[in-house]
Amino acid sequence: MSRPGSPGTQPGPERTLPVSTAGDAPADVGTPFAAPASPEQALAELHAGNRRFVTGAPRHPNQDAGHRAAVADGQHPFAVIVGCSDSRLAAEIIFDRGLGDLFVVRTAGHTIGPEVLGSVEYAVTVLGTPLVVVLGHDSCGAVQAARAADATGTPPVGHLCAVVDAVVPSLRRAAAEGVDDIDRIVDIHIAHTVEAMLGRSAVLAAEVAAGRCGVVGMSYRLTAGEVRTVAAVPSRAVDAPEPAASAALA
Ligand SMILES: [Zn+2]
Repeated sequence: MSRPGSPGTQPGPERTLPVSTAGDAPADVGTPFAAPASPEQALAELHAGNRRFVTGAPRHPNQDAGHRAAVADGQHPFAVIVGCSDSRLAAEIIFDRGLGDLFVVRTAGHTIGPEVLGSVEYAVTVLGTPLVVVLGHDSCGAVQAARAADATGTPPVGHLCAVVDAVVPSLRRAAAEGVDDIDRIVDIHIAHTVEAMLGRSAVLAAEVAAGRCGVVGMSYRLTAGEVRTVAAVPSRAVDAPEPAASAALA
């Protein structure tokens, strides 16, 4: 199977991702819009783009007619974004990217069913995408809905039950850690989603073990527009509050 954009990249499985906060994100230097071929390069590009967005200096790369035509015959996205469906969390906007850059899968509360996992596996194995990001955010309505349903014992109507059921394990983990703040619960849910994705997708886990892919959990602040890393695989340096950090895989 061909690996677009990653010739000769054979890092060891024990390699760690350089996790950085928005505050120490790499500067927008070098060849900013070249397609990243490694998890580290992909992560750096996302942080650089988010920094441009936060500071009000977006470049809107890869959104012109010429690039639209250039990618019509094939796609080589450098990151999979498994994000919450929240209307304020549009990946291409908050990471300042364009057509063909991001392979985006969105569900309420970034819950992961078989179709989501299959989509992630497609991007990683067929398209050769080197980074998977679970993208959550503060004040997440799906997490709040799950919390309310769990507290009252009243399940929501219709298929919203599936979303709530998928979030409840994260609520249990937060409770076990004595966490009650909703935004800290969100961070735990993001880290739990990273863990669950790797636990349920043997294909993704194998790609990570082989060093061809990394998985990162990011939490987005609706007001500031910043992303913060709360989990990373592989990583031993997670810049998260204690509860989320303890939930991250090492
Ligand atoms: Zn949400």
